[in-house]
Amino acid sequence: MIKLIQNEFALNLVEIKKLNGYDNENYHVKTDIDSYIFKTYHYSQNIFALVEAENKALLFLKEKGQKNIPEPFPFIDGSFVKIIEIKGRKTICRLLSFLEGEFLGELNPTNKLFRSIGAFLAKMDLILLKFDSYTIKARQWDWDIQYLNLNKQYIQDITNARDRSTVQYFFQQFEENVTPVLPDLRKSIIHNDANEWNILFNGGGQTGIIDFGDLAYSSLINELAIAISYASFDHKEPLEVAVTILESYHSILPLEEKELSILYYLIASRLCISVCNSAHSKKENEENEYAFVSENSAWKLLYRLLSINPIEAENCFRKAAGFPPRQPELPEKVLERRHRSVSHILSVSYDKPIHMVRSAFQYMYDANGNTFLDAYNNIPHVGHSHPNVVEAGQKQMAKLNTNTRYLYDILPDYAEQLLLKFPPSLNKVYFVNSGSEASDLAIRMAKYHTQNIRIMVMEYGYHGNTQAAMEISDYKFNNPKGEGKKKDILLTQIPDVYRGKYKDEDGAGKLYVKEALKEMQSSEAPIAAFISEPILGCAGQIPLARGYLKELYPAIRHQGGVCISDEVQTGFGRLGEYFWGYEEHEVIPDIVILGKPMANGHPVGAVVTTSEIAESFTKGVEFFSSFGGNPVSCAIGLAVLDVIEEEGLQENAQTTGDYYKSMLVELKNKYACIGDVRGSGLFLGVEIIEEKTMAPDGKLAHYIKNELRNKNILISTDGPFDNVLKTKPPLIFNRENAQSVVDCIDNVLKKYYKNYL
Ligand code: PMP
Repeated sequence: MIKLIQNEFALNLVEIKKLNGYDNENYHVKTDIDSYIFKTYHYSQNIFALVEAENKALLFLKEKGQKNIPEPFPFIDGSFVKIIEIKGRKTICRLLSFLEGEFLGELNPTNKLFRSIGAFLAKMDLILLKFDSYTIKARQWDWDIQYLNLNKQYIQDITNARDRSTVQYFFQQFEENVTPVLPDLRKSIIHNDANEWNILFNGGGQTGIIDFGDLAYSSLINELAIAISYASFDHKEPLEVAVTILESYHSILPLEEKELSILYYLIASRLCISVCNSAHSKKENEENEYAFVSENSAWKLLYRLLSINPIEAENCFRKAAGFPPRQPELPEKVLERRHRSVSHILSVSYDKPIHMVRSAFQYMYDANGNTFLDAYNNIPHVGHSHPNVVEAGQKQMAKLNTNTRYLYDILPDYAEQLLLKFPPSLNKVYFVNSGSEASDLAIRMAKYHTQNIRIMVMEYGYHGNTQAAMEISDYKFNNPKGEGKKKDILLTQIPDVYRGKYKDEDGAGKLYVKEALKEMQSSEAPIAAFISEPILGCAGQIPLARGYLKELYPAIRHQGGVCISDEVQTGFGRLGEYFWGYEEHEVIPDIVILGKPMANGHPVGAVVTTSEIAESFTKGVEFFSSFGGNPVSCAIGLAVLDVIEEEGLQENAQTTGDYYKSMLVELKNKYACIGDVRGSGLFLGVEIIEEKTMAPDGKLAHYIKNELRNKNILISTDGPFDNVLKTKPPLIFNRENAQSVVDCIDNVLKKYYKNYL
């Protein structure tokens, strides 16, 4: 090789060293005075054209005065690129000047360095705006952000399902937010790879850049997006890095508002390209370490981006470029507008309501740029805007949606998958549109099957908003404004071992059953059904006492009734150890009610029952629901089941839930105002009490809830005294998230004790 270089360039080499390359061989060569990179590529017409175009770009930049970039060095014959036979193989060769300096990736960069990166790229891009190359313009490949979708094929190579979903989420965001704007963006030839191992600083602190092999004719803003992506690696505040680079770039090459409006998504897209390619390379060649140099940092930043509201990002970018922030409507105005057409009876959460505009997994974004950690919403079970769920709905909606009176495969597909989650006796499913409808239908079925009309319900239970569901919901009918208990309803005491009559964990269940049986015996007619949730949400996350259902269910059946478990809140793996709440009680209900998490927010509910009950019901009037079981709902429901499985969300509910609960118990040991911590998995309650009297302290619970809201954490309060903090987050909630909530409650209580007691 030494000879070849000496002969071809008439240089007197004193040193030659082989370098690691992505997919070609490069050599660092030195003469007495200068230092060069000798680059080789396996010949192809395409690569030859690209290398020639790259050299032209470098020469153009040099001619226009660009410093600190590699300069092509001519062969003896004056050419800059040559095809030479090396080891019997046609090889493209060229020599470039070697840039001395330290790479961004090896430094702990200061703001000064970030500013210099921005300024350097802007100056270079100003020159490149005037450069033209058909070869580069014709290039369409996966490392150019505008062709993000070419990377879709690699998503399957990402081995972790959660990681795959994160990438897919950003692909969808690109489609929604970037694709419509793309045709309006300025295009130019850009370096397209200002990464931390291509940007370097020489002894005088001047920025330079190497490796022009990724030159692309792309949206100009992509240059900046790429630089920001890599420069922000491992920084606590990526937006600060972004703003510093952007500010200096903008002062030389002014950016446009529409470019800033999508920059957040472009940064995320570049990170996606990086992790997709790493995953693909890993699959192709486990040993190609060069392909993974940035992988961990890229993943960390992608997940960090999820916690940044895109509006906040855009406003930071706008501020750095001297544009006024986007001003959302004042919250009072938004509320006023809502109440002009929507009744006050539909209340809004918090003293200061939140105007939500977007969401991603365990985060919700408001119109003011805030990100809220969602520790409350159990409907987005597998995470807000989960891409698999979104895609399933979009695809099915574009294909077929119809009522259930035609044959279509996705209905039995879904029914079968759902029923696999139940014991064999529960083998018929009826799809409806909400938990309320499911409760209503379950009661109708129970009455029809048993030919009885009385229903035994649980104190503080809630089963929905239809007339029938309200009549079985103590939480509603016994509300001061409620309709009161109907004569055919039997109300039984909640088997609560914390605040109830019996507190002994081992014996309470049986004692409460006695109370229920007394109630039943006092009834003039047999009951059709007993209905309860396994953990009563509206009662303040109260688990039924151990052994209660096991003892009660046979008694209900013995007198001719059926047992209904309302799993609207507790189902689908939320409780961690158990997929359904009734399993914890070692019973099998006759009817199960499903809702909320079933389709991650798309309105789906269901009743699951035995063939005997289904058979009886068949003898009555026809059951039909226009939307229940429609193809789109089934597709979404199936996607939810798949995600729970693929992402191991039931296991996560257990491990994260156990951790979360243990942290809350620690907090209980610290503060006397926490009377009880209860629940399972990611379905927990924290009972707030007055220290001295142990009476429920709804005021303090309300205060904590609102303080958490002010710290951008969503939880709620519930229970008859509204004194129980309720937390039931999307199941992708992680330990860090749990820690944030607990730390925040800790800080709120610290402040409360300091200021008010
Ligand atoms: N059952 C339970 C236990 C519930 O919590 C709810 C809703 N909070 C329902 C039924 C009613 O479901 P939906 O609001 O979907 O009608």
